[in-house]
Amino acid sequence: MTLTNQPGCRFCGTKLEYTFVDLGMSPLCESYLSACHLNQMEPFYPLHVYVCENCFLVQLEAYVTREHIFTDYAYFSSYSDSWLEHAKKYTAQMVERFGIDASNFVVELASNDGYLLQYFVEKKVPVLGIEPAANVAAVAVERGVPTLVKFFGRETARELADSGKQADLLLGNNVLAQVPDINDFVAGMKILLKPGGVITLEFPHLQRLMEENQFDTIYHEHFSYFSLLTAEKIFAAHGLTVFDVEELPTHGGSLRIFVRHAEDSSKPVTSHVTDLRGREESAGYTKMETYSHFAEQVKETKRKLLEFLIQAKRSGKKIAGHRGPQSLQTRQIFAGHACSHFFAGAHPRDTARLFAHSTLESKRRDHQAERFHSRMGWQVRCAHTRGTDP
Ligand SMILES: [Zn+2]
Repeated sequence: MTLTNQPGCRFCGTKLEYTFVDLGMSPLCESYLSACHLNQMEPFYPLHVYVCENCFLVQLEAYVTREHIFTDYAYFSSYSDSWLEHAKKYTAQMVERFGIDASNFVVELASNDGYLLQYFVEKKVPVLGIEPAANVAAVAVERGVPTLVKFFGRETARELADSGKQADLLLGNNVLAQVPDINDFVAGMKILLKPGGVITLEFPHLQRLMEENQFDTIYHEHFSYFSLLTAEKIFAAHGLTVFDVEELPTHGGSLRIFVRHAEDSSKPVTSHVTDLRGREESAGYTKMETYSHFAEQVKETKRKLLEFLIQAKRSGKKIAGHRGPQSLQTRQIFAGHACSHFFAGAHPRDTARLFAHSTLESKRRDHQAERFHSRMGWQVRCAHTRGTDP
């Protein structure tokens, strides 16, 4: 670990002095270049992750504004069949457990293209999506999902609450990690939630990231990485209580937390919460030593990965990868562009554009991509790096 001059923790303000892992310099992975930009310079930003010694929030500094990343977002949730299935199951579960019906109001934060709220609309439940990216919000509206094109925080929550709109069910999937001002966001949820309402949030679980060495899930658009212990602290600071938790297989291992107003005693804290909290405590997530081991674990992985890639290249093999474009980028940049053949997850729009940093060049045009997409879902087609052989 090294001492740094980084600013304070995004939750508690404690000066950040401890490195969790330093993955070097990398470009933004949700930005795409078109062919005419391939020979131009592209900004790289430090992918240096810190851990707060006070609240143990693992975090990246936000180098770019949320407007820069999310105003024209390149990810359409509905292109993933498995994610749609996940959303559909979630809807059925919420209807059954909390009796959500036409008399309730469901709000989703970062509602993307309406991939989830469409299932509540089918059940005649009044909904509102809040989504900052106008391009994906437009698709939601076409689908019949009312959507407010705004960033969420105290201000938006107050506007809605003042106009009589508070949520019985307030949800956010894979958004908490992507919020630069986490206190403004969670305070907004407190304002927007009805007195007896329920919040559910899904985010990747830090314990899975660390134990399974998933450093490739670290990228600039993910500002925070949570244990249950730290998430509970953040919500408690805003008058909210985590009363249940589920461990999900999504995104390498995620948590779905159920949150209520601290003063709402009608929903007791379940044993799932106390069990997981206990497991995190015994695994050392309240001790700095646990966090300090991660960086060396990642360095050793890099050495092994490079050994493998160089060996594979020397024996004349071609190397391909498939997974989300973000994780491929982190892994590929960190490993030093050791691959000459590559493919990655993408939706049809991606194929007309090029992955920014790695000069991936799509071989297929739009109409072919559509055909491939319908057959393969969220998988990639065919792309190869240009001029980056080791
Ligand atoms: Zn902190």
